[in-house]
Amino acid sequence: MTIQTTRRRFVIGAMAGGSTLLATSAGTAETVSDGVTVRRFAQTTPFPVNAYIVEGPEGVVLIDGLLTVSASQELGKAIAATGKPLRAALLTHPHPDHYAGLANAVGNSGAPILSVAGVNDVVRRDDSAKDAQIGAMFGPEWPVTRVFPSDTVREGDSLDFGPGLRFSVMDIGPAESHHDSIFVLEGRQPRAFAGDLAYGLMHAYSADTHNQDWQKAIDRVVAELPEDMILMIGHGTPITTGFLGWQAIYLDKFEAAIRAADWSDPELATANVMESMKTFLPRDDLAFLAELSVRPNARILGLIQE
Ligand SMILES: [Zn+2]
Repeated sequence: MTIQTTRRRFVIGAMAGGSTLLATSAGTAETVSDGVTVRRFAQTTPFPVNAYIVEGPEGVVLIDGLLTVSASQELGKAIAATGKPLRAALLTHPHPDHYAGLANAVGNSGAPILSVAGVNDVVRRDDSAKDAQIGAMFGPEWPVTRVFPSDTVREGDSLDFGPGLRFSVMDIGPAESHHDSIFVLEGRQPRAFAGDLAYGLMHAYSADTHNQDWQKAIDRVVAELPEDMILMIGHGTPITTGFLGWQAIYLDKFEAAIRAADWSDPELATANVMESMKTFLPRDDLAFLAELSVRPNARILGLIQE
């Protein structure tokens, strides 16, 4: 039932985008150190997702690969338009809106796709299930060819992709997804590419049901990253570590709303949870992801058996 509702929304969203409009927004590239820019490259339809193009003097590094065929092809063109070689693609976490477009984005550049081992394991394990589930939602916009990490990196590794392109690795583990990680671009103004550890004032997906671990991950990141660190996130505009407190509150509210619902009627309970969450965050952005997460969390909390 929920899936059907969601699918209908996707179709409406795609139609509203129109065939002549780009499926992406290239944003503005900000200079973070000498000769190094970070560009937030956003898929805009049927829902917002970010990839990032980090351009150094001699090469480019991509973080994440978007979902749809159109958006990931545009991302590939934007990388090519830099005129510089793609040195690597870094994958923050194993959700389809971040890895499915990688094949189109990386193209035949031969660039390695790197992730921590936990992300690599989950993306390979879950791809056939995602193919069936998400592929059905997106139809021709679901990339038929999907690629996985070609090599793995570890917590504390320092990855050097040429001048201005040095990243350090934080292996987060289960949080928003079954396995999250962060890549920190070093330099005068460091940037942490944090995947979906926080949503930029949008509703959140939590159907992987690791919310306690997610809260612990937030505590770790707040403790370890400087408070003026800018986090480049998977959905929405950049944040600082302070904003992670809002994400923690969102998760608390979500659990409280699920506990408060009357689960004798699961459909009504789901609607009531979403109504409550929209009172807390009165906007629709990514609400379908929160809606998909209500029942899995009710199950984990022991409120329904299904
Ligand atoms: Zn995401």
